[in-house]
Amino acid sequence: MSDIRVEAASASYTVHVDRNLLASIAERTAPLARKISQVFIVTSPEIDRLWGAPVRNGFETLGKRVTTLLIPAGESHKRMTTIERLLEELAQHGADRDTLLVALGGGVLGDMTGFLAAIWMRGVPFIQVPTTLLSQVDSSVGGKTGANLAAGKNLVGAFYHPLAVFADLDTLSTLPPRELRAGLQESVKAGVIRYPQLFAFMEQNAEAIRNGELSVLQPVIEDSIRMKAEVVEADERESGLRMILNFGHTVGHAIEAATGYKQLLHGEAIGWGMIAAVRLAQSRNLLDEATATRITKLVHAFGPLPPFEAEAQHLVTLTGSDKKKRSGTLSFILPTSIGTVDIVRDVTEAELLTAVETMLAE
Ligand code: NAD
Ligand code: MG
Repeated sequence: MSDIRVEAASASYTVHVDRNLLASIAERTAPLARKISQVFIVTSPEIDRLWGAPVRNGFETLGKRVTTLLIPAGESHKRMTTIERLLEELAQHGADRDTLLVALGGGVLGDMTGFLAAIWMRGVPFIQVPTTLLSQVDSSVGGKTGANLAAGKNLVGAFYHPLAVFADLDTLSTLPPRELRAGLQESVKAGVIRYPQLFAFMEQNAEAIRNGELSVLQPVIEDSIRMKAEVVEADERESGLRMILNFGHTVGHAIEAATGYKQLLHGEAIGWGMIAAVRLAQSRNLLDEATATRITKLVHAFGPLPPFEAEAQHLVTLTGSDKKKRSGTLSFILPTSIGTVDIVRDVTEAELLTAVETMLAE
């Protein structure tokens, strides 16, 4: 087991990574809060059925009143209407300033519950209990919370950190294999941008990691969290270093938008986006062919990346409207070796078009 500390500018907390964690969450959380008047577990019906009981029992054993608030699974529910409904439910149950919120589920639930915690009575404590690979290695760490608008993803939100994160590896046993593989693309990203030893470990153990064998999956999860924690510690508000976490995400977001957020999982779109970024890096002579091949091979090792229908020019146009675009130029995180990246701010649309066309032909 590992306890990974996150020492960000505005908060410090521990990410616990282990098997069989759920039952001990309550007793580990109690000393972290000033006082816990009552507990709300925010989850989906399916995750509640699979994993809710040990979390609920733990708090009840401590004598706490526990209410479960249910949200149907899926990104389509990550909306302000859901947030408003949850706020009304908190009010109806008499939630006060010493209320503890528990996010039990994937990134959708984690982002929404964190946001709810940030705005209920201007902020109450919450904990993250991520149950997808993606939420364990990525969304539960770093303090970004929020919801989507019709105009785009994650346009509303707050930086708000949990008291602690509990990543229970056992919960991954019920995760659909495709969700596991898609989440692993964020770990590939972590390796490429900063952790060459993680990248090499994933290359050497790709098959077992893909199959969800915990002996090899656990170190991958822990290293991915360490990488994200380091970056967030250095740059909590994404004014500099944190931008490197966007490797693969500029084109990835365009693919998600072009396919209506339905055909591909986030990690799969990011897999394609990393391939496009690799092609862009090669065209600028930032990356040698052997290293480019290692990266694309590892991305495909956690595939298959589903094919999708989109015009290259349409993807380029959508990339230009990405919210991370600054002052007319396209910024890209491009790998220069396994473990290092450059932030390139002057990518032209023509250059990007060629890279996207190359990606689409693969
Ligand atoms: P998700 O929350 O939609 O979960 C994926 C699916 O798996 C859902 O159907 C869910 O019900 C199911 N599921 C979850 N845990 C399960 C389990 N243990 N067993 C069986 N089924 C389970 O998706 P996700 O990939 O976890 O998260 C995606 C979200 O995270 C997006 O909204 C994205 O914007 C957000 N995100 C946020 C950050 C951040 O920094 N805050 C970073 C990355 C992604
Ligand atoms: Mg991502």
